[in-house]
Amino acid sequence: ATPMSIMVGVGRGAAAGILIRNAEALERLEKVDTLVVDKTGTLTLGKPTLTAVDSLGGLPESEILRLAASLERGSEHPIAAAILAGAEARGIASAGVEDFASPAGKGVSGRLGGRRLLLGNAALLREAGIDVAEADARADAMRQEGATVVLLAVDGIVEGLLAVSDPVKDTTPEALRRLREAGIHIVMLTGDNRRSAAAVAARLGIEAVEAEVLPEDKARIVQRLKAGGRVVAMAGDGINDAPALAAADVGIAMGTGTDVAMESAGVTLVKGDLLGIARARHLSRATMANIR
Ligand code: ADP
Ligand code: MG
Repeated sequence: ATPMSIMVGVGRGAAAGILIRNAEALERLEKVDTLVVDKTGTLTLGKPTLTAVDSLGGLPESEILRLAASLERGSEHPIAAAILAGAEARGIASAGVEDFASPAGKGVSGRLGGRRLLLGNAALLREAGIDVAEADARADAMRQEGATVVLLAVDGIVEGLLAVSDPVKDTTPEALRRLREAGIHIVMLTGDNRRSAAAVAARLGIEAVEAEVLPEDKARIVQRLKAGGRVVAMAGDGINDAPALAAADVGIAMGTGTDVAMESAGVTLVKGDLLGIARARHLSRATMANIR
């Protein structure tokens, strides 16, 4: 490719809110046949709100929420923001916890008033030897609607469920339609529960879903698709997505996401809007056609 046409392409992209890091990214875009897309913050707004608090034992719902919010003070996950905002809206003050930990892709833990608290997905609680069968079955009903449900355990017993719901971005359905029209195979990737993921995927007409994926496995899935002969673009917004963005033929970061994601990507969509991928691909075609 001639440097001049590439520069023109990159300039046009920038004017449209598509930041292209280098010539390779621009050249490879037109060859992409598979788009791996992270759910939270990419397909969805990434700004979930708290939609339900459920007590399974004797604790009042306000106490479930207080304990959950206290744990989430130390987390930067969108789920944490939803729970903290939900508590604040209900006038519930959180407290500081001791021994805070936040295993990536699982949840948070700590101690409050001598009680051991765990908040997160079923795997996190199971690993601590907690029986989640009944609670998880109850959570499944909420997941059918696409909500993400986290479980709160107090001293080894599941005491509550909290549901957060993250709306799909307005532009997502149209963006997916255009990408499919261009013959691109779409794979949704998420650390979220299988059922919640399936509900969102069904709504968007996405058939290929990889759910309950740990952060370190996201890149492996991209590599597996590449090894299968596909030319893979990966779109994501989180720190968790950075290795997968770097592993893809073209990494696409949402400008509304984390700096780490943008640093790992060849393309940044300033507005964090997936329509930018269809536009970027179009730009790549036009630029490469111009060169040939
Ligand atoms: P995503 O693909 O949505 O970015 P993550 O890998 O960040 O997924 O998280 C996977 C799952 O781990 C979440 O759906 C949630 O169940 C649990 N989890 C992660 N962080 C937290 C947190 N701060 N509080 C509660 N649950 C969490
Ligand atoms: Mg994410």
